[in-house]
Amino acid sequence: MKELIREYQLQAVNIKKLEGYASINYGIETDSGKYVLKHYRNTQEFDIISAEDKVLETLSGQLPFRIPAPVKPLKILKDGTFIRLLSFIEGDLLSRVAQTDELLFDFGKSIGSLNQALLDKKSHAIAARKLCWDMQHCLLNRPKMKAITPPSKRKLTAYFFDLFEHHILPLQHTLRHSIIHSDLNDKNVLVRKNTISGFIDFGDISYAPLCYEIAIALTYIMLANPTDPFHKAGMVLKGYHSVLPLQKEEVALLYYLIPARLSVSVCNAADARAKNNDTAYILVDEKPAWHLLQQWIQLNPIWVKNRFLSALGMAPVVMEAATMLRKRKKYSGKSLSLSYDDPIYMTGAAFQYMYDHKGNTYLDARNNIPHVGHCHPGVSRVIATKTRKLNTNTRYIYDEFVECAEKLLRYFPPKLNKIFFVNSGSAATDLAIRMAKTYNQRDHLAVLEHGYHGNTMAAIRASAYKFDGKGGRGKPEYTLKLPLPKLYQGLFNSTEYYVKDAIKQLEQAIADKKIPAAFLAEPISGAGGQVPLAPGYVKALQPFLDGHDILTIMDEVQTGFGRLGSHFWGFEMHGIIPDIVILGKPMGNGHPVAAVVTTEGIADAFANGMEFFSSFGGNPVSCAVTAKVLDIMEEEQLIQNAYTVGNTFIAELKKLQSEFSCIGDIRGSGLFLGVEFIDSSGKPHTRLANHIKKELKANFVLIGTDGPYDNVLKIKPPLCFTKQNVDRMIALLHQILKNNA
Ligand code: PMP
Repeated sequence: MKELIREYQLQAVNIKKLEGYASINYGIETDSGKYVLKHYRNTQEFDIISAEDKVLETLSGQLPFRIPAPVKPLKILKDGTFIRLLSFIEGDLLSRVAQTDELLFDFGKSIGSLNQALLDKKSHAIAARKLCWDMQHCLLNRPKMKAITPPSKRKLTAYFFDLFEHHILPLQHTLRHSIIHSDLNDKNVLVRKNTISGFIDFGDISYAPLCYEIAIALTYIMLANPTDPFHKAGMVLKGYHSVLPLQKEEVALLYYLIPARLSVSVCNAADARAKNNDTAYILVDEKPAWHLLQQWIQLNPIWVKNRFLSALGMAPVVMEAATMLRKRKKYSGKSLSLSYDDPIYMTGAAFQYMYDHKGNTYLDARNNIPHVGHCHPGVSRVIATKTRKLNTNTRYIYDEFVECAEKLLRYFPPKLNKIFFVNSGSAATDLAIRMAKTYNQRDHLAVLEHGYHGNTMAAIRASAYKFDGKGGRGKPEYTLKLPLPKLYQGLFNSTEYYVKDAIKQLEQAIADKKIPAAFLAEPISGAGGQVPLAPGYVKALQPFLDGHDILTIMDEVQTGFGRLGSHFWGFEMHGIIPDIVILGKPMGNGHPVAAVVTTEGIADAFANGMEFFSSFGGNPVSCAVTAKVLDIMEEEQLIQNAYTVGNTFIAELKKLQSEFSCIGDIRGSGLFLGVEFIDSSGKPHTRLANHIKKELKANFVLIGTDGPYDNVLKIKPPLCFTKQNVDRMIALLHQILKNNA
């Protein structure tokens, strides 16, 4: 150190090592003043540091606050490293003082005046640099995501980097550019007497879109003010805008830029830790950054945009639902329904949250199709990349088909080893029924009361929910309808009676020469009101079915893929192995892919000369998506999550039940739950269930109701649902029930 000081012939009274990232920094006190001496080991930095010095020199005297001034020229040492001497600026760090509204307004103004002073400046050396902390190159940090654990956190950064890629990158070159400081975090800002006294550390200086400057500053102000981040950020914005007006388009980008900056921060923290490079400087923001990222996903982009616009007195974005609704009705038929009397106009979604056109965010406890979460970045990425590679039909050989089939069949018992891909649960039901009928050359089918299996003609004929429901034509001739084995307030109160009854009806069908090709059921009846088939029912029925060569078809469209927490498939819960399994909904996380899985014998019998072909079923994109869904489930341990969060949910619901007698029954497994409401005489309480659904919606939670009396709350959220989400729902349910009592 002493040698370095000698290079500039300083007489140091006091030397103190300071924090630094790209250089080793020393605070040096001499009789004539205070300086910062920076020692750079990377000789390649010389050009850029020279350029930085030039910028600092041109700014000298231009600003209402201080910035470091180069005191002596850069000096290359014998070993090739170089040093630099800057003036020291007194003041408290903005990160260490009370961030009052006035101070933050002044901070904004100060950033504005810095940016204003640099607006027409250029530097090739600065423009040519590519730093991972430079927001325009923030995607360079993607490889560092692998150091982030657990994967459920990693997906947040992946999601926000993807948003940056899709919403910012294409615009980037069109934005106003300037030389900017590029790291105005509150540790690079000095304060004296509640006003900004200086900006330091211009080491990240870049030539970039102008609005990235304010976005970075806002990020750290929001981190520092977790109780009122938007108010405080608004003060900074206002101050900035009063000096250098922002364009509306720039303000609109803040929703994407802030979480992108947070993602850069957490990626570098995780990467530093993985490399055992525990630089406190990098790690300091990590925890609050994660916290803010987790909050950000719960913010509707429209809300954020409007919040920032209104801070600047700019008109908010207003979208209109009425026209959409009118056109929708104009272009389609009335049978196409909408949820809620006041339907929601959805404009986006992420994970377990959905965003409407007004800026509201809903917690989604209703949607089991986005199994691993709405817009999961892993799924979106696979769809995008595979669409660019090949999308054809199963008449060609391609990798994705085999990879997906191999991966998915591993989740089945060995007997179930053949897969046929289609594009909807309905098509899978249709195919499953056709396979069964082809296999044993019969026309009849046994189903359960209240069951729903799809919208094709064959599926409707198998769905009592439809043929017995509004507009239905009653039970079709070839369908045998058995009672739903429901133990709570069902036809019988024991499994045994249901089994006896089913066998009696099947025997009669056999006697009438109407022997069914198959028995089709869901392991837990969704449309029936989340009713797990009475324990032991299917198992007890099995010998009879086998004895008469009646195949068992299990519809796992709702229950499959680990939703039940305890088992990957619902049939496992019943201790049986079906002959045919119907898959759908969660399989593609919203991408239309479904399948039938069966035995070799049934697949062979189905190959009777008639080709099976589905134009889209099993295409490379769909197959890749399914394989990805399975990978994500493993990576993010979503089955375990369904199990633990589901059990917490059940336990909390039971506590509610002990307080409110209107909760008649709580049933289901994992994140496939039902809550049945009854009135004081024990009758189905349809009105209450619907009131709860409405009230939950008013509190921004989405939930469905179902069952023959529509008195059952159906809980089936994306599997990334958290314990905090459960707590929120339970608190709301408690409030609603209390108000209703
Ligand atoms: N089976 C079950 C159990 C279902 O819940 C559904 C859809 N709700 C289907 C089949 C039909 O699936 P899709 O809507 O994909 O055709």
